[in-house]
Amino acid sequence: ATPMSIMVGTGRGALAGILIKNAEALERLEKVDTLVIDKTGTITEGKPRLVSVAVGPTHDENEVLRQVASLERGSEHPLAAAIVKGAEERRLDLAEAEDFEAVPGKGVTGTVAGHRIAFGNQELLRVKEIDPTPLLDQAEELRRAGQTVMLVAVDGQVAGTIGVADELKPSAGEAIRHLHEEGIRVIMLTGDSRLTAEAVARKVGIDHVEAEVLPERKSEVVKELQQRGLHVAMAGDGINDAPALAQAEVGIAMGTGADVAIESAGVTLVKGDLAGIARARKLSSATMRNIR
Ligand code: ADP
Ligand code: MG
Repeated sequence: ATPMSIMVGTGRGALAGILIKNAEALERLEKVDTLVIDKTGTITEGKPRLVSVAVGPTHDENEVLRQVASLERGSEHPLAAAIVKGAEERRLDLAEAEDFEAVPGKGVTGTVAGHRIAFGNQELLRVKEIDPTPLLDQAEELRRAGQTVMLVAVDGQVAGTIGVADELKPSAGEAIRHLHEEGIRVIMLTGDSRLTAEAVARKVGIDHVEAEVLPERKSEVVKELQQRGLHVAMAGDGINDAPALAQAEVGIAMGTGADVAIESAGVTLVKGDLAGIARARKLSSATMRNIR
């Protein structure tokens, strides 16, 4: 690779909002045949909104939301921000939480006004030995509609479901279609439940989904694909995507995402626009053709 053509390639990318870190990233892009793409913040806007609160007969909807939001004030997760905002919009008085604990990839626990609260996915309730059965059908139905649904337990009993939804990025469907036309296999990767993930994947035309993947397993998924001989790029935005971005042959970070994701990536899409992925790959092919 001549320095001159690399400079022209990266310069052209920069004008289109595609920052290519080095010659290596530009060279490797051309060979990519598989794109692993994170759901939240990459395919979706990453700004979830509270859309449903449903409780069993023995609980009050606003009281349960107040308890959960009080707890989530201690969390940095985007889901937490959605819940706190939703509670504030309902003008609920939030309380101080004690014994706050975040369980990565599962949820949060703590005590609010003397009540023990656990809030997160089914896996969280399983490790806390709380039976989710009474609310599973309800949760499933909301998930099929594409909501990310968490379960609330109060004092060791499942009490309600809380659902959030996240808009798709406007360009997502078209960007995925272009990648498919280029012969690239696209796999969506998420810690979210299978039903929610499949509903979102269907909307943007992705037919391979890896759901319910714990944060520390994301890079394993990339590694397993590489061991099958595939050339893998990974696109993500979050702190927990960084190891997978580094493991991939090309890491692609959203400029709207976490700094550590950007640092781990060879390519940054300044505005988080997924159309940049196919464009970056074309740029790579054009540059490499020039060189040969
Ligand atoms: P993603 O890969 O989609 O960004 P995470 O791995 O961070 O998701 O989390 C996976 C799942 O764990 C979430 O969909 C949610 O059900 C649960 N979870 C994680 N953190 C929280 C939290 N702060 N509050 C409630 N649920 C959470
Ligand atoms: Mg994400």
